[in-house]
Amino acid sequence: MKIVIPDIPEEGLIVELEEKISLEGFSVSSPVKAQLAVSKTANEVMVTGSLSVELAMECSRCLKDVQQAQDLPVNVVYHPAEEIGSEKHGLRDDEMDMGFYTGEELDLQELITEQILLSVQMKPLCNEDCKGICPKCGIDLNTGTCTCVQKEIDPRLEVLKKLLQKEKE
Ligand SMILES: [Zn+2]
Ligand SMILES: [Zn+2]
Repeated sequence: MKIVIPDIPEEGLIVELEEKISLEGFSVSSPVKAQLAVSKTANEVMVTGSLSVELAMECSRCLKDVQQAQDLPVNVVYHPAEEIGSEKHGLRDDEMDMGFYTGEELDLQELITEQILLSVQMKPLCNEDCKGICPKCGIDLNTGTCTCVQKEIDPRLEVLKKLLQKEKE
């Protein structure tokens, strides 16, 4: 959904939307719901509110599917792209994210996608103490055990063994 900036009334806009979005590397299980208040000052556009999203990801240790439901606050102030790099933003408001817009339109879908990507855990876990899977036999160590670990040779010994073998040759 796009907002035409000159059309934003002085008192602001309340936008409620449900968007299906796609994110690279994740599957988004349900449409993203967002409630946003859009207002503008001279040439800045403020978007505040919240959005909720459900993501389906793989646990970074055991590869099990993990559902992550998140409610994210949205606090973004958009400046015209012409201002990039200018010193106009001396007053930094740490509560707000900063964005830039070009032309007269603001793409809310882009905003939503960005907000989700910013908050997504890069290494999701099904459980804080997930034991993961054995890299050798692939058994899920949360539900089973294997003997691979014990058999593992200390890598330093491995090097030594190779050296000794070379000497023999
Ligand atoms: Zn896991
Ligand atoms: Zn194993």
